[in-house]
Amino acid sequence: MMISKESFSDITTPFYYYDTQLLQDTLDTIKKETAKHPQWSVHYAVKANANSKVLEIIARNGLGADCVSGGEIKAALKAGFPAESIVFAGVGKSDWEIRLGIEAGIFCFNVESLAELEVIEEIASEYGKVVSVELRINPNVGAHTHANITTGLAENKFGIAMESMTDVIRKAKEMSHVKVIGLHFHIGSQILVMDDFKALCSRINNLQESLEKEGITFDNINVGGGLGISYDNPDAEPIPDFQSYFGTYEENLKLRESQTLHFELGRAVVGQCGTLVSRVLYVKQGSHKQFAILDAGMTDLIRPALYQAVHQIENLSSKEACETYDVVGPICESSDVFAKNIELNKCHRGDLIAIRSAGAYGEVMSSTYNCRPLPKAYFSEES
Ligand code: PLP
Repeated sequence: MMISKESFSDITTPFYYYDTQLLQDTLDTIKKETAKHPQWSVHYAVKANANSKVLEIIARNGLGADCVSGGEIKAALKAGFPAESIVFAGVGKSDWEIRLGIEAGIFCFNVESLAELEVIEEIASEYGKVVSVELRINPNVGAHTHANITTGLAENKFGIAMESMTDVIRKAKEMSHVKVIGLHFHIGSQILVMDDFKALCSRINNLQESLEKEGITFDNINVGGGLGISYDNPDAEPIPDFQSYFGTYEENLKLRESQTLHFELGRAVVGQCGTLVSRVLYVKQGSHKQFAILDAGMTDLIRPALYQAVHQIENLSSKEACETYDVVGPICESSDVFAKNIELNKCHRGDLIAIRSAGAYGEVMSSTYNCRPLPKAYFSEES
């Protein structure tokens, strides 16, 4: 890792550090792996990291944007993503967000219920426009990941149930201000088992075949995102296995000749380029444990508290023999724990601590709980 304690000695902690070269290398890999498929289109899932500089770099590289709120649409447009490259998902779009999408001229709305479709029809009619929509289908396909980031099971709130799909398509056909241009799916996040994506492909193949029998065809298939990263070994695997990921779709999805295939990758694009840098405030001996108490907490990186996520943690300031610590934050919550019983080079007050693989769902989820300031962000090209 390029971070050194010298480069950060004067900076107030905690802060996010982004390796822009790694982000560029990751984007280059995505472009290389998709180059032979002109009918493929990769949208960056803004929810993973909406830092303006990160967004600008990704927009410059020609990816589209996948947004889940009006705020994300605004951020994407400001960063330079063309409106025609924006897809807009989310189970609860407010009227102002729908208006914003229509006014901006986004590529499509990924609609998650009949109720939402009816509201879009009504608002689009006020504008006298025909709005493109994809129907987000809940494929009832599981994923080998944490329950809180599984989205494609029948019990999850996302998407239109498969059994309602033809009814919704039929109703959409009767509407004059929406045009169904595709089907959308997203089964979950941090997925490393390619068979999960393979299962999604066979579900889509079956759905397409049965819909075609009823004379229903689409121009677009959107398979969402979900490719995971190596939290265990970020140095050995800095770039996710895009070859296997895209290869799985290439081999298993029966895309019709006229169809465009859309991806919505978030974590895999930005996860490894970000590190949360913090300092040890105190080392405390408990009756059973030794605690390294950091100045970063769950307000800066909530993933361990929210998803029991495990991030690699390194002491950048010490080469002394390792000791066992619970690494915790200063927030008044028992769940404000980054790791339990891990080995770290002996910690002292003031040591710089790196929490790795924090580029996705890190800074973007930070909060001001306990009236704490939000963490700042620095980029490798500045250091
Ligand atoms: N698309 C949709 C609809 C999502 O809900 C998400 C994440 O939750 C993504 C794409 C991005 O997922 P990931 O960051 O795992 O690639």
